[in-house]
Amino acid sequence: MADQLFKFLFEGRETARSSVRGEIVSLKDTWREIRAQHDYPAPVLRMLGELVAASTLLSANLKFNGALIMQIHGDGPVTLLVVECNADLTVRATAKLAEGVTIAEDAGFQDLVNRNGKGRFALTLDPKDRQHGQQPYQGIVPLEGDSVARALENYMLRSEQLDTHLWLAADEERANGVLLQKLPFAGGDDLFDAAGTDLVSELEASLETWNRVVTFANTLERAELLEVDPQTLMRRLFWEETLRVFEPLPCSFHCSCSRERVAAMLVTLGQREVDDTLLDQGSVDVNCEFCNRQYRFDAVDCAQLFATSNTADGVRAATLQRH
Ligand SMILES: [Zn+2]
Repeated sequence: MADQLFKFLFEGRETARSSVRGEIVSLKDTWREIRAQHDYPAPVLRMLGELVAASTLLSANLKFNGALIMQIHGDGPVTLLVVECNADLTVRATAKLAEGVTIAEDAGFQDLVNRNGKGRFALTLDPKDRQHGQQPYQGIVPLEGDSVARALENYMLRSEQLDTHLWLAADEERANGVLLQKLPFAGGDDLFDAAGTDLVSELEASLETWNRVVTFANTLERAELLEVDPQTLMRRLFWEETLRVFEPLPCSFHCSCSRERVAAMLVTLGQREVDDTLLDQGSVDVNCEFCNRQYRFDAVDCAQLFATSNTADGVRAATLQRH
């Protein structure tokens, strides 16, 4: 069975409207494929897996057609983690380690990416059909907390003003996660809505639901999150609640690299740099950092690159190039 993400709403016990939404994801094949591309030490792998699970949870939550890109810019032995998740929940991920570092088996989040307090978390929303000159949306916050989950919760609160809780876990086999989010309350400053509903008690009731379900989810152990399938987990954690569960969404690994994109990247690098590499190595070899696919451009390919780069298409390809 393909990897799946489950979305659900808590049907209010005390109130008519749903005040909390939830999601559970379990990535096995997706994570295995990402993991197979890289050879990272275990603590790095765990952190990357947690970020991968989180990217699907946040993507599934957005009404946005494009890529959600999460980056942790580290100032320790891990200098960069990048996870990109598309609207169809296809994911790719990679990490960069500082040269010559050794990473302790028990290295924690702060040891890995925030050793000097200069680490940053960045979230970018890159629309699928970006217009010429249109900038993607980006939010950046310092890395607070002792885990990927805490850093993301902090981002959601600071940058999106959304109360979100995440439980994330990854090992060699799986990258799993649970998200709970308090839905924004529509009442504003009014005491009653048009239908005469008492909004103050609605608000109190929705807070009660939120506190209760977060308490339930806080009983979740890492091993349980890794081993138990999403549907069982949902029942086990929230058996006292009435849930409206939606059709599960499939998740998978996919890398969007292509020869055209690499070509566009080489054009932005400039002819001089490309010529130097040609002179040095006889060809320009580019490895996709996400999927390890190799792209080779020989002297003839490179000449063509710059012969066409002056045309409108070439210039546009270079502008649209993402990495
Ligand atoms: Zn690739």
